[in-house]
Amino acid sequence: MNTSDILVIGGGIAGLSAAATLSGHARVVVLEAEEQIGYHSSGRSATMLHYALGDRLVRALTLASRPFFDDPPATFGDVPLGRRMAVLVHARDDEIDALDALQTELSAFAALERLDRAGVHELCPVLRNNATHGIADRNGIRLDPHALLQGNLRQLRSRGGALHAGQRVRTVGYAGGVWTVVTDKGERFAAPILVNAAGSWADEVAGLAGVAPLGLEPKRRTIITFDAPPGTNLDSFPFAKTVGNELYFAPESGRLFASPMDEVPSEPCDAQPEELEVALAAYRMEERTVLKVERIHSRWAGLRTFTPDHHPAAGFASGADGFFWLAGQGGFGLQTSPTMANIVESLIVGTDWPVPDVEPAVLSPDRFLARHRPVDPTLSGS
Ligand SMILES: Cc1cc2nc3c(=O)[nH]c(=O)nc-3n(C[C@H](O)[C@H](O)[C@H](O)COP(=O)(O)OP(=O)(O)OC[C@H]3O[C@@H](n4cnc5c(N)ncnc54)[C@H](O)[C@@H]3O)c2cc1C
Repeated sequence: MNTSDILVIGGGIAGLSAAATLSGHARVVVLEAEEQIGYHSSGRSATMLHYALGDRLVRALTLASRPFFDDPPATFGDVPLGRRMAVLVHARDDEIDALDALQTELSAFAALERLDRAGVHELCPVLRNNATHGIADRNGIRLDPHALLQGNLRQLRSRGGALHAGQRVRTVGYAGGVWTVVTDKGERFAAPILVNAAGSWADEVAGLAGVAPLGLEPKRRTIITFDAPPGTNLDSFPFAKTVGNELYFAPESGRLFASPMDEVPSEPCDAQPEELEVALAAYRMEERTVLKVERIHSRWAGLRTFTPDHHPAAGFASGADGFFWLAGQGGFGLQTSPTMANIVESLIVGTDWPVPDVEPAVLSPDRFLARHRPVDPTLSGS
């Protein structure tokens, strides 16, 4: 039997960042079903830190996370966690109201420039002429998920914590104040606190423990990569996004990547791209830009898992001592991970609450229990 103070299920960014932070206070063990950390959502993301994602709560969690990405702790090693990349949200004349509203909302979080047609095309020359308005944040960060995952793992290990990969949790039991799990290899792990950071599978893991599910909804999103025209200067290319949820694209390892921003409901699974969304990505690239997607170089899909109110859940489950939820990071799990880890630390260990303008109740898993009235989140936004 392997015993620790805190057992974390899930070696994605949620589980690893929480474990790395908690390891400063306790003996922490992470169990990951796959051989490789970040194999599912955390390794398949668009890896941008920007404020056009989510709503005011997500933006507040992102803003609070920025200092960590700009100046990671020494225990992370000396590899940068990302690089600056401008974020351009562009609009046609018929989309200007949506752009105005977004600018108002985002301006509390980022220094934005309003761009006219010339400014939009100076920043992103491949957009079609009907991209007439834009807002730019020159201070976005293209995150490096590998560096982020490995940095968290390095910190965890340097503080005496451990990762056990290739250990899928099959059963979860509770007796005498201790959670005991058995993996598919027949190995047993026990701790008084169990953190459920199983991503798309978090409701299933709760089911193993006899804890009521949150109603998580995994949604598939697709990305394609393709060659940029010869001579395109990708160094200065932005992350470019339509003001509506139709398309984003950005440079990717000497090519471009694009997503049609699909949100197809899915079971928890090893998500694979479907032809329809791959074709939609290419179609929307050609609709919004002057580029031709001649040949798709690679494609992948991943799951973005949402709670019913699209806000993450962090907190102990009512009626299940020591069972802690860390789930529902949707499409913002990388960029909010440092602050979410500090929130977990605060709720489990009692350190200072890291985001004074966010009420813990807004994140509480209890908000999804029928007997609780919905919280009136001060930062819920639209
Ligand atoms: C296409 C796409 C684009 C995205 N773009 C961005 C972006 O630009 N910025 C951003 O911040 N976020 C983005 N995201 C979202 C981000 O990737 C997710 O929010 C984040 O990765 C979720 O992390 P996680 O650790 O909860 O999930 P995961 O990375 O899926 O980790 C959960 C882990 O739990 C493990 N697990 C499950 N069940 C068990 C079990 N029974 N036993 C042991 N282990 C188990 C799984 O194997 C998995 O590795 C994007 C996601 C996608 C798919």
